[in-house]
Amino acid sequence: MSEAAVAEPTQPPEPPQVITVTNPATLEKVAEVPVTDEAGVQAAVERARAAQAVWREMDFARRAAALRRYRDAIIDNKDRIAEVVVSETGKPIAEVYGGELMYVCDAIGYWAKNAERFLADQYVRPHLLRNKAAYSTYRPLGVVGIIGPWNFPFTLTIGEGLPALMAGNAVIIKPSEVTPRSTVIGCEIADEAGLPRGLLQAIPGFGATGGWLVDRADMICFTGSVATGKKVAQRAAARLIPVTLELGGKDPMIVLKDADLERAVNGCVWGGLFNAGQVCMSVERVYVEEPVYDAFVQKVSERVRQLRQGHSKEEIDVGSMTFPPQLAKVEQHVQEALAAGATLLAGGRRNPALPGLFYEPTVLTNVNHQMEVMREETFGPVIPIMKVHDVDEAIRLANDSPYGLTASIWTRDLEKGRVLARRIEAGAVCVNDALINFMVTDVPMGGVKDSGLGRRHGPDGIRKFCAQQTVVVDRWGARREINWYPARRGAARLYRRLLNLLFRSGWRKKLSA
Ligand code: NAD
Repeated sequence: MSEAAVAEPTQPPEPPQVITVTNPATLEKVAEVPVTDEAGVQAAVERARAAQAVWREMDFARRAAALRRYRDAIIDNKDRIAEVVVSETGKPIAEVYGGELMYVCDAIGYWAKNAERFLADQYVRPHLLRNKAAYSTYRPLGVVGIIGPWNFPFTLTIGEGLPALMAGNAVIIKPSEVTPRSTVIGCEIADEAGLPRGLLQAIPGFGATGGWLVDRADMICFTGSVATGKKVAQRAAARLIPVTLELGGKDPMIVLKDADLERAVNGCVWGGLFNAGQVCMSVERVYVEEPVYDAFVQKVSERVRQLRQGHSKEEIDVGSMTFPPQLAKVEQHVQEALAAGATLLAGGRRNPALPGLFYEPTVLTNVNHQMEVMREETFGPVIPIMKVHDVDEAIRLANDSPYGLTASIWTRDLEKGRVLARRIEAGAVCVNDALINFMVTDVPMGGVKDSGLGRRHGPDGIRKFCAQQTVVVDRWGARREINWYPARRGAARLYRRLLNLLFRSGWRKKLSA
């Protein structure tokens, strides 16, 4: 017998017991965070169920007051939170205060103020059966599982949980293994602020921990890549639990010849490079009408070359990238584009002056839709720009993508902007702005096509965390209904007449003639 035939089957490698968190800007080790195993996930769910049983009985005013106390505690601890987020993401500290913390604090106020109205019983006048009263109610689902990414590790974990909490659920968050402490600190502060123990918990871990949460939660709210989103949806489908998916994007920016070029240039540079381009709604590809193309490209390139890159303590514009494989992907997209004939106008390499995961802000032209940089999510500080002959070509190219998260149109003619927005296959479109729809929590945010299922924000952003229950009440109290047993003689004839009376077009007119 050959050696291969008697070899022991190889065991899959044991997953690590701890997550080693590294500061991507300095490459220094920041912390070790224990991984939650399956028993730990089970215990978290049991604690959450106990807390939720009490929490769901509180009225909206008490839940809102508790969340506002949580907001006060976040404000008191803002520097502590900002330090943690910066240390595991490498983003500029101003972006944590002005982005992540601003969002979460505003969202607490938004949901505290609006939850009761959005989840109020909805009464209807029945269309057919006028002798019934009918209404629908919203009831919390129970334990909501949130699985989050690393690019906004406070906003997209703690922030995602807020409407679920206001709806009366408990929340368990599986943060990204790249940035677990941003969520852990958010949950610790919730405990310190007096939210019931177990109501908001973090279970750090890798993908397996996320899977165990999907096996136990009553609903999953996932933000991450398309590939993982599909796996999560399949696992949730096996249990028939609801799932929402906020996935990737390849968001187009369309600059028309009548645009305010200064604003478009500044919007493009910020929208493409904010958070080192690691934003699901980043400006990932730009289409510019021919008459303004040269001027636009020149201004964008100049401005990008002037940006300051560095570590958070300094006055900087662009920080480091967060996730090493993402840096490799950016390098690959840029190299592939250059090899296929793209022109490099800024950046195009790792920053040689800095030790961490810094990729220089990059501008590419002479790109086309055969290149990955125009097709696949780059998720890095890269702005590829294409010339288009007219609006129709821009819209066709914008829609030539499996993704459909957000898009932007830049024109001085606001009515034209609104009309064109309807032609773009995206969950949200900004006119003369970029990315900002995320901060307008009053309107739905989410993707079409491969960019996801379900919406955050607005009324649907809290109703998704509820089961809807309909209540129908008989108003007249007759001894029996017309269709109850025993069947009436002549019932068929009666219904035939009723059908004519109620539904035959023009019948009423004839009757009155
Ligand atoms: P990812 O899909 O790799 O991971 C997301 C989360 O899923 C992580 O917590 C990860 O541990 C977990 N996970 C991995 N495998 C799992 C499994 N089998 N079961 C359960 N959980 C599992 O995504 P990422 O790299 O962390 O995030 C970047 C992606 O997120 C980008 O594509 C970006 O566009 C997207 N994103 C989307 C939005 C949005 O609102 N649409 C916002 C931010 C980021």
